[in-house]
Amino acid sequence: MNKLRLGFFKYSCCMGCSYFFAYVHKHVPEVLASFDFVFIKLLSRKGIPEGPFDIALVEGTITEAWQVDELKMIREQSKKLFAVGSCAVIGGIPAIKATTPELEIEKRVYKNLSSIHSIKPHAVDAYVKVDGYIRGCPPAERDLYEALTSVLTGRKPDFPQYSVCIECKLKGNLCVLIADNMPCMGPVTNAGCGALCPSMNRACYSCFGPMKQANAPALAKKFKAMGISRDDIIRKFTEFGADTIEFRKAVETVYED
Ligand code: SF4
Ligand code: SF4
Ligand code: SF4
Repeated sequence: MNKLRLGFFKYSCCMGCSYFFAYVHKHVPEVLASFDFVFIKLLSRKGIPEGPFDIALVEGTITEAWQVDELKMIREQSKKLFAVGSCAVIGGIPAIKATTPELEIEKRVYKNLSSIHSIKPHAVDAYVKVDGYIRGCPPAERDLYEALTSVLTGRKPDFPQYSVCIECKLKGNLCVLIADNMPCMGPVTNAGCGALCPSMNRACYSCFGPMKQANAPALAKKFKAMGISRDDIIRKFTEFGADTIEFRKAVETVYED
C-alpha cells in the first residue's frame, strides 16, 4: 500500500504540538508507519515542499498576513486539513492579545516597529475550511489518532462534542466546583482530555476551548456569585478562548454586570 503524504505545518505558537507529535511518532509506530512524512516544520530547515498532501496538520495561531497566504496554499494542496492544538483550534495563548488594540500590543513588546507586520490573532478556520479539530494544549492523543485513522480508512472523524463534566462524572470524581468552590471551567469546555485536571483535584482552565453552544455567560455569573473578582473571571475566559464567540459572550456579561 502506498503511504499517505503528511505535512505538519506551524504558525505562531510554542511548537509544543510538534513535540507531542514527535513523542507519539516514537511510541505508536503502527499508525504512523502508514504515512510518509513529507514535511515537518520542527525537523526541517527548508521551505514547504510541493504538494499534494493527503493530510495537513496545522499548529499555531495565524498572526501575520504571510501566514494567511501560505495557509490557503496548503489548503489548496491538501485533501484533509486538521487544526492541531488550542492555538490552531481556538486561537489559544497567542490570542490573549485579541482583547487589546494591535498597535498598543506591538508598542508594549517591540522598541522598533518597522519590521513588525502582525495582524489580529485568529484560529486556522478563520481563513480556511478545516476537516477536524484536534483540541488541547498539548493536544489529546486520542483525537490525533482519530484524525489519522479517519484519513487512513476514508471515514469522517468522530471527536467528542460534550463537556469535560461528562468525562469527570464518568470517572467518578468529586466535583471541585461544588465541593471545593474552585472556579472550574469544565461545564463549558469541550471534552477529550479525560477530565485531566479535576482528576488531580484541580479546576479545569479550558485549554480544550469552549464546547459548541456552551452557556459561558451563566458560568461567568456563577463565578461572580462565588466571589471571584471581575478581572479573574475575564482572565479565565480569555486565557485560551479570547478569539471564541462563546467565551467573548461571557466576558461581555462580566462587563455589563
Ligand atoms: S496548543 Fe499549546 S502546546 Fe500546542 S503550540 Fe499552542 S501553546 Fe504550544
Ligand atoms: S469538577 Fe469541574 S469538570 Fe468535574 S464535574 Fe465539577 S465542574 Fe465539571
Ligand atoms: S481539564 Fe481542562 S485544562 Fe485540564 S487538560 Fe482538560 S481541558 Fe485542559
